[in-house]
Amino acid sequence: MDINVLVIGGGQAGLAAAYHLARHGISYLVVDQGHKAGEVWKQRYDSLKLFTPRGYSLLPGMSLPGAPSGYPGKDEIAEALRRYVREKQLKVQLDTQVQSLVQEGDEFVAATSQGIIRSRAVIIATGPFQKPYIPQLASGLDQEVRQLHSSVYRNPADLKEGAVLVIGGGNSGAQIAAEIAGQRPVMLAAGHMMSFMPLSLAGKSIFWWFDKLGILHASPERKLGKLVRRRPDPVFGFELKKLIRSGKVTVKQKATETNGQKAYFADGSSVRVDNVVWATGFRPDYSWLQIPAALDEAGRPLHKRGVSPLNGVYYVGLPWQSSRNSALIGGAGQDAEYVVSILLKKTKEEWNR
Ligand SMILES: Cc1cc2nc3c(=O)[nH]c(=O)nc-3n(C[C@H](O)[C@H](O)[C@H](O)COP(=O)(O)OP(=O)(O)OC[C@H]3O[C@@H](n4cnc5c(N)ncnc54)[C@H](O)[C@@H]3O)c2cc1C
Repeated sequence: MDINVLVIGGGQAGLAAAYHLARHGISYLVVDQGHKAGEVWKQRYDSLKLFTPRGYSLLPGMSLPGAPSGYPGKDEIAEALRRYVREKQLKVQLDTQVQSLVQEGDEFVAATSQGIIRSRAVIIATGPFQKPYIPQLASGLDQEVRQLHSSVYRNPADLKEGAVLVIGGGNSGAQIAAEIAGQRPVMLAAGHMMSFMPLSLAGKSIFWWFDKLGILHASPERKLGKLVRRRPDPVFGFELKKLIRSGKVTVKQKATETNGQKAYFADGSSVRVDNVVWATGFRPDYSWLQIPAALDEAGRPLHKRGVSPLNGVYYVGLPWQSSRNSALIGGAGQDAEYVVSILLKKTKEEWNR
């Protein structure tokens, strides 16, 4: 056996797990396919500003220079994750992609781009954003239209001249539309009625209020959690709202069809487009996880608060793993702590034998 715990993925969730494993003196290794810690954040669009203030964007034992009430940019978070690895002396092996994971007897065998790693347990922290999702309707657009998923869009220079349609009314779609609107008119198609929330209220961050009102930590099994989960996330901040009011961004209904250079919407209207930015989210991909008992029929992780029914398999960083906070930087530490505490309980006696 090489190590006790292999942590697959060294984003915020995997690093939070490493922090807690180290705290308990459990031997572990984090492997990440990236070239540098924090790379996922580095590669996001240039203008990305977090909607969570610094004070709510921390891993356990992490600090961010700057006002706790200020909003960090994505490079600041990438750099903070890098610093976290260094300062906490976390064991992270980069440039190592897990290509398959199988179980052989009571050990897990990961085939990686750097060779085989055997462990007694695995914590899977590969993140919810593995495969950019572009709906089928994209195929109706002809080659004249420049199409980019939000994960590859960096800034307006990636676009060609002419009309821009952003599809997707979440926070990424909103920020990207707002940024482009500084340069030319933009249309934004949203599949749901968009709602807006201030970044702060009565001098406190909206996340402070979510925290105090129990919204951030509500379990998906409780009434409040169920209610929050059912509703699409609001857009945080009013920048886009102002641009809509001033006519710089036109909101369209759900895009239903495309043909040539035309996009059609649920209300029957259509527009001619030169660029489409698909801010339509991501899909998980666990095809490398070749342990059927760890996944449900749809290929999604089987778990309760990150603990798999299969002994030795754990997850961190799943959306709604324990609450809305699970998908945020500020929530990764708490979920990792819980998962590591269960791992300790289940395995301590066994490993001491
Ligand atoms: C546009 C955008 C804005 C956001 N804004 C905020 C915000 O304001 N505040 C906030 O708190 N959160 C925000 N989030 C959400 C959240 O913090 C991030 O999505 C976060 O990156 C998820 O963390 P993670 O560690 O679970 O996954 P990731 O950060 O995706 O990390 C997963 C890691 O696993 C590695 N990996 C994947 N597959 C393999 C494999 N097979 N082998 C080895 N390594 C692998 C990847 O290289 C990656 O480093 C935002 C997300 C997006 C997309």
